[in-house]
Amino acid sequence: MELNQDQKDMRDWVHGFAQNVMRPAASEWDEKESTPWPIIQEAAKIGLYGFEGIAQFFSDPTGLTMPIVNEELFWGDAGIGMAIMGTSLAVASIFGQGTGEQIGEWIPRCFGTETDVKVAAFCASEPNAGSDVSQIRTRATFDETTNEWVLNGQKAWATNGGIADVHVIIASVDTELGSRGHAAFVVPMSECKGLTQGAKVSKHGLRASHTADVYLDDARIPAGNVLGGKEKLDARLARVREGKKSKSQAAMQTFEASRPTVGAQAIGIARAAYEYALEYAKEREQFGRKIIENQSIAFALADMKTEIDCARLLVWRASWMGKTGQTFENAEGSMSKLKAGEVATWATERAIHILGGNGYTREYPVERWHRDAKIYTLFEGTSEIQRIVIARAISGMHIK
Ligand SMILES: Cc1cc2nc3c(=O)[nH]c(=O)nc-3n(C[C@H](O)[C@H](O)[C@H](O)COP(=O)(O)OP(=O)(O)OC[C@H]3O[C@@H](n4cnc5c(N)ncnc54)[C@H](O)[C@@H]3O)c2cc1C
Repeated sequence: MELNQDQKDMRDWVHGFAQNVMRPAASEWDEKESTPWPIIQEAAKIGLYGFEGIAQFFSDPTGLTMPIVNEELFWGDAGIGMAIMGTSLAVASIFGQGTGEQIGEWIPRCFGTETDVKVAAFCASEPNAGSDVSQIRTRATFDETTNEWVLNGQKAWATNGGIADVHVIIASVDTELGSRGHAAFVVPMSECKGLTQGAKVSKHGLRASHTADVYLDDARIPAGNVLGGKEKLDARLARVREGKKSKSQAAMQTFEASRPTVGAQAIGIARAAYEYALEYAKEREQFGRKIIENQSIAFALADMKTEIDCARLLVWRASWMGKTGQTFENAEGSMSKLKAGEVATWATERAIHILGGNGYTREYPVERWHRDAKIYTLFEGTSEIQRIVIARAISGMHIK
């Protein structure tokens, strides 16, 4: 159960960046509500943001380095953390579904270079297709005359949407097949006039992370920009039309791989709030004693610590299972994301309560942590969607 020295060194290195660079800047970027490019660049300079960095986190054979890095970053600040880690959703999609050639071409472009940093966006959701990805209406049609894909539609709530260089777009090639007719396309903004940014969303939390609609208006991309290649896609669609099972559902594959990592981000926020509340409770005096000397406060902190550790163990188990190729018999990835998101929302609310009136003010960071935490019960599948996935896995039945 003990972390090895490499994992501990990585944790301490990322923690240093979170403490010294992210924490001091957190409130400012939350108020500005804009992408913290200088901080992303600093992360790139030290190798924390970039192709080599992510490859190193991912290469740990136990699978634990990725959640450890995410927990530390989001302990530092979730908005800035998402500005740094938002790119990884597109990267996971390219890595999971792309050919070797596509991985080599597009993943480095997602990050740019140390002097010219870029971000990437993964765009699945649409105004009428959030939890129900089968309702995706963005269409990809193939133009034989020019050997290009032509994409049309509207994407919603895309992290880094419109400011990214590389956009991974989930589109329907055959609407009659529901989510089995979907495929993932790489759309480089600089080379495609048909992709534009729509309205930027003003948010409750994660405000240093850019979220926006993306419009695709006759967006033309080369035939080779479909992840996995056109031949493989054609073969898969033919199998589905014949009524055979399809192995790949583009959006769901990406979500399955990323859920424990997202859970680790929620744990980072929860741990920040717990640690802050613990110190506060040991200092603050009322009725002539420290407030932690009251069982109600001490027990709340005991529960927070217990729940956070419990969530972390679920996240580490799912990360280890994913990396070592274990079968997710009981939707353990969804379990970890469900638990972590709910613990973060609950623990940050408890932290506000322990700080009393101070907790409710912007003079103290816990209200920001609470705002940031709430998204973890919503994106990457809401808590209800995680429960549906788990319920179906444990029952073998089609629970609605
Ligand atoms: C800050 C932010 C960043 C995001 N980043 C991205 C991104 O980078 N890429 C991307 O593709 N998307 C992104 N999203 C979108 C996000 O994934 C969706 O908001 C999420 O999937 C929920 O979809 P929805 O908002 O349409 O809610 P809905 O699906 O409309 O759900 C509304 C409510 O109904 C419940 N509900 C729905 N169906 C059921 C059911 N069958 N049973 C029980 N309850 C149900 C839900 O749990 C929820 O409580 C982002 C969203 C936000 C807010």
